Amino acid sequence: MAKIRQYKEGGPPPPPHRLASVFDDPARNKVLLLTCMDQRLLDDTVRFMNALNLHNRYDQVALAGGTMGVQRLNPPSSVWQPVFFDHLHAAIDVLHRQIKDVFLFEHLDCGAYRYLHPDTTIRDRYSNADRLVMTEIHRNEARKFAWEVADFINTQRRLHETDFRAARESCGADSDCWDRVKESAKQKVDAWTNIRVSYFVMDLLGEVTQLDLPAGQRAAFER
Ligand SMILES: [Zn+2]
Repeated sequence: MAKIRQYKEGGPPPPPHRLASVFDDPARNKVLLLTCMDQRLLDDTVRFMNALNLHNRYDQVALAGGTMGVQRLNPPSSVWQPVFFDHLHAAIDVLHRQIKDVFLFEHLDCGAYRYLHPDTTIRDRYSNADRLVMTEIHRNEARKFAWEVADFINTQRRLHETDFRAARESCGADSDCWDRVKESAKQKVDAWTNIRVSYFVMDLLGEVTQLDLPAGQRAAFER
């Protein structure tokens, strides 16, 4: 069952890009989806994305442990994080995907949290956790990584803004030159503007909870 619920626990605020649930404010363009590699979740993930009318409208990166795997593994990996960001960069700048939402998908009972999390205390806690505690552990990882994704997006946008200004200056008074390059320089800035980051946790029955929604959001979504 695909279902989005409000997550009621407190904590620091989420990234400011996603203040509405995906049900209230659905993705209207393309999505980049990060998931765990877990074979038990494939059909439920597709079902959830289809329920959001995202059939054939998302690119997917799958790595063991989802946001935790991207950030840190045991032993720490310096490879996985660039893999994710290289894919985000390629999707937008090379493949021109018009991605305006990044979905970070976690799932309960994740083997990577049990065996690959670098913090043995969290590994033990996770191994003996109930649903609420597991969700909290996933939320902490997802929230941290959501901020990193937001920072990366902002950095890319600023880089293209710098290129835009440089192109303007290099054309000087030559209006034909500016006419030739203006549109493409502007498109590159626009491609990294207004991208929202949302994070979720799915249970093994395929029920999905969007995490860190502000109070008052219409949160339930059932197929
Ligand atoms: Zn997993």
